[in-house]
Amino acid sequence: MSFICVDRVPGVALQDRLDRRAGHAEEAAGLSGHFWTAGGDLRVRFLDGPRDLRERVMAAAADWTAGTALSFTVVTSGGADIRVTFAGAGNWSALGTLSRETEMFPAGAPTMCLGEAPGAAPARIAQLARHEFGHAIGLIHEHSSPSAGIRWNRPHVLAALAGPPNFWTPQEVADNVFARYRSEQTQFTAFDPDSVMLYAFPPSWTLDAMTFPENIELSAQDRAFVRGIYR
Ligand SMILES: [Zn+2]
Repeated sequence: MSFICVDRVPGVALQDRLDRRAGHAEEAAGLSGHFWTAGGDLRVRFLDGPRDLRERVMAAAADWTAGTALSFTVVTSGGADIRVTFAGAGNWSALGTLSRETEMFPAGAPTMCLGEAPGAAPARIAQLARHEFGHAIGLIHEHSSPSAGIRWNRPHVLAALAGPPNFWTPQEVADNVFARYRSEQTQFTAFDPDSVMLYAFPPSWTLDAMTFPENIELSAQDRAFVRGIYR
């Protein structure tokens, strides 16, 4: 059991975006209001971590901007849109422009944590970087997409996430695993099992033993989706 990556959305904003209709308490997808301006150059600042690790992360993150009008520039001083730390538990990122919400992400504080990257194998570092930078440009988890129809084994998932290392309350599990975003708040495609934004849950977490592949690379749909938004 490892840390489940969470979409970092300020509490009030999250409650407003989840679909709470009965029966909906659960693909490439992104939060429509929180994409960056196409043609934008996002400033990325590393708050810690050795140079070779930073370079590996940026090489993988660049997969998202290939063929788009979006770019990342690493800066070593001044303000930055994406502030990365390796010194934390687990992996998470602010969703898109929500990194500018200073109540949750004060100036100078991290907007992304790659806590699992130091000491990880190169392929895992690249996978983590692709996934978290996907969040940073506004993409949500594939399992939270309005088009995801995963049949969760709820008691089992609640029990698994109540323990280490996540220690989630039932509400946190509901928000981060079972809930789906409201379709009018989201831009999405058909559920994409190959998306790097899909989390690899154990089959025992679903009622039909659904298999979630461990996706390392961006899928064709991931690339097409981002090119459509940031053209
Ligand atoms: Zn994630």
